[in-house]
Amino acid sequence: MNQVPQHPPQIAAKLTPMMAQYTRIKADAGDALLFYRMGDFYELFFSDAEKAAPALGIALTRRGQQGGEDIPMCGVPVHARDQYLAKLVRAGYTVALCEQTEDPAEAKKRGSKAVVARAIVRIVTPGTLTEEALLEPGAPNHLAAITQDGERVAVAATDLSTGDVSVETGSRTQLSELLSPLTIKEVLSTDLDYPFPDNVSTTHLEKRCFDHAAAQKRIEEAYGTSEPEGLGLNDPLSVRALGGLLAYLELTQIEGRPGLRLPRTGAAGAQMAIDEATRRSLELTETQSGSRRGSLLATIDRTVTAGGGRLLHQFLAAPLRDVDAISARQSGTAFLLSDHQLRDDVRRALKASPDLARAISRIALDRGSPADLGAVRTSLQAARAVDALLDKAAPLPDILRSQLEDGTKQSIDKLQQNLSSALVLELPSRRGEGGFVAEGYDAELDRARTLRSGAKQEIAAREARYREETGLKTLRIKLDKALGYCVEIGQNHADALAAQPGFIQRRSLTNAVRFVTEDLESLNREVLEAEHRAEARENEIFRQLNKEVLDRRDLLLTIADTLALRDVLAGFADLADTDDYVRPVVTESRAFAIEGGRHPVVEAALKSDGQPFVPNDCQLSDDRDTIIQLVTGPNMAGKSTYLRQNALITVLAQIGSYVPAKEAEIGVVDRLFSRVGASDDLARGRSTFMVEMVETAAILNQATERSLVILDEVGRGTATYDGLSIAWATLEHLHTDSKCRGLFATHYHELTRLAEELPRLSSVAMRVREWRGRVVFLHEVAPGAADRSYGVAVARLAGLPAPVVERAQQLLSLLEAQAPVGGLVADLPLFAAAPAKEDQPRDDVRAALEALDIDDLTPRQALDALADLKARL
Ligand code: ATP
Repeated sequence: MNQVPQHPPQIAAKLTPMMAQYTRIKADAGDALLFYRMGDFYELFFSDAEKAAPALGIALTRRGQQGGEDIPMCGVPVHARDQYLAKLVRAGYTVALCEQTEDPAEAKKRGSKAVVARAIVRIVTPGTLTEEALLEPGAPNHLAAITQDGERVAVAATDLSTGDVSVETGSRTQLSELLSPLTIKEVLSTDLDYPFPDNVSTTHLEKRCFDHAAAQKRIEEAYGTSEPEGLGLNDPLSVRALGGLLAYLELTQIEGRPGLRLPRTGAAGAQMAIDEATRRSLELTETQSGSRRGSLLATIDRTVTAGGGRLLHQFLAAPLRDVDAISARQSGTAFLLSDHQLRDDVRRALKASPDLARAISRIALDRGSPADLGAVRTSLQAARAVDALLDKAAPLPDILRSQLEDGTKQSIDKLQQNLSSALVLELPSRRGEGGFVAEGYDAELDRARTLRSGAKQEIAAREARYREETGLKTLRIKLDKALGYCVEIGQNHADALAAQPGFIQRRSLTNAVRFVTEDLESLNREVLEAEHRAEARENEIFRQLNKEVLDRRDLLLTIADTLALRDVLAGFADLADTDDYVRPVVTESRAFAIEGGRHPVVEAALKSDGQPFVPNDCQLSDDRDTIIQLVTGPNMAGKSTYLRQNALITVLAQIGSYVPAKEAEIGVVDRLFSRVGASDDLARGRSTFMVEMVETAAILNQATERSLVILDEVGRGTATYDGLSIAWATLEHLHTDSKCRGLFATHYHELTRLAEELPRLSSVAMRVREWRGRVVFLHEVAPGAADRSYGVAVARLAGLPAPVVERAQQLLSLLEAQAPVGGLVADLPLFAAAPAKEDQPRDDVRAALEALDIDDLTPRQALDALADLKARL
């Protein structure tokens, strides 16, 4: 766990002044590696150097001594900073950037030994990155602060690279659902015990950072309001979470004031809840092995901008529940689907747009570059081009309309014109490099530049003149770091030149000697002066342009949002067109009727191998007397594919996309659960079976009548009778108590007898054909139950040696002959009535009640707690 630097400064004795300064600053940096700026390099010393050098693959050297020992050192050039930072952050380090905070010339005025003033200007952590080189363009990068009070939690999160902020509250058991829509890179908390994955960096924040009064103050500073309720932060826990987040930004961003957007709150209630296990099992944004390739996101992503890619990611992280909102997205897709030419034109125009939201965030943090200003310029041009295309089209659905009010358009047009005339085409992505302001934009800058180039031309002309005057044809004018422009001549002619009037010898090199003349010196002064003036003027213009951008920050972010949304919807339309997706009917009902459904990812994989995907229907509804289907069939027959495809179609439908099916009607799902093939979670010290049971418990406790539950092979990780019994009881509970819609795949063929008992459970099986002892998978779902497992036939397919297969076949025949009729079920009192339920409050309600400290509750908190308890019943 990372510790935020809290160390008091220590002044080390008997050190050089520079090392004394270093030691003091390093104490402030705590565990972070200190990048100590020295001219054109960041230097690292002592153990920082020893850690960083191997991580960066650079040489570890020495610089001076301390206490009789060499001081280990390594360094990275300032211009390559970001690529080195990226490596260190990926390797799990945090880095404190220490800059020179005064001009070295100023320091010299205090005496030749004076040390240039330096200070840490920023601490670079995984959750606070803003540079392109450190970020994935199409993925969010969240920092989350979590507060806990008894059974309640609040999560405040930001993607600093775009300024997005969200705050959600819920019960402790909902934490996974609150966190799972976020792409968390770093978590801040005081003492939260939660099993975050290894790739999430956890940082301990002092309790005082979450203090309520301090939080209110920070929120006021950030948003200019002393009433957090006005921001939708209705309970103290969420105020404290956001306060902690802001405190950490103060600690790490030091010099920059992040341009945060207003917090979004209460979104969790409007979203389909998907817990972490479901997200992993369905491989929504990454596969179980952590790669984006092979995920649903990678398969459906047709966006052409970074902002669009991030929005699609966000859509998948939080599918909607509101039918109207879903339908609005569908209308946008339908419109762009209907006009192929318009869609192509819009996508082409969008493609030209750089990452506007991230450029604005950097500019707000005062770490923008001329390239970021260029990104604003080009994005505005792209936005204007897209507007022009869509304005011509009618009738344009609301969701595709520009969100800018008419009065504000002028202000944006003005900015665009100004940026277009101010900036050259190719812009440096490093701050401090000049030459980005276009000629003709600023008279003063143009004057300084003319003077500079005039003086330079003059200097160049001197070369020919000096050669003629001195008769020395090898004489040349050179630029010397210390002398400025000077005359250089080979060693052998140096005396001849020294004898000429006006040539003053200044430096001897190995083979040459350098001279100055009064003329050159005065021209040098002119060049320098003009250069300074040009630089100062360009800096001023840069600051002015940044200000103009920031003055319109909210408008620009609205434009960024609109660009991203149009990109996602145009991507949906493209996907629907090329991959034959249809518009699903999404309703408030509990219908689930999919005709000819396909698995988007498996279909795409098969297509690239030239193989067809076999579509399957899935009908679950109250009218059809089936809310849960029991799916049987041999291994490899396609059970998991069928289960998952129905879950993925539901997700796609609720993010507003079209779906891979011939027809689909889906009654909105409030929570989606999927557990497919539990695997050992040894890293967390839990066995397959334990993981499976913990996850099944979560489903049984939380599934509602509006939920969709996908369970694949529950109970497989234990002995047959135990497993069968657990699967049996689970199925009964989901059917009779939760009353959710569901698909339940099982190997226990005995379970299919339950379909006769439970009125709204029906059996389907994956069809296979046997041919000369071999099994052929048809991948078709048909009513009825599988008669047997075909396990031995599948083993043969897998290449088990023939003698082993034959022996297995023999044994199977023997066992089948001995087994009691009806298999295991005959031994079990499975059809005995389930015990009557006791009228007891549920465990989590009891736990929540016990955790309440009534003396410590405000009336408002008491009401909230009551609402929470009621929601759990
Ligand atoms: P197991 O019980 O071993 O997990 P399963 O019955 O769940 O097997 P799947 O993993 O769903 O089987 O499918 C196995 C393979 O069959 C898939 O990788 C895919 O290549 C192919 N397949 C599945 N469904 C279809 C389909 N509808 N059309 C074409 N191929 C399919």
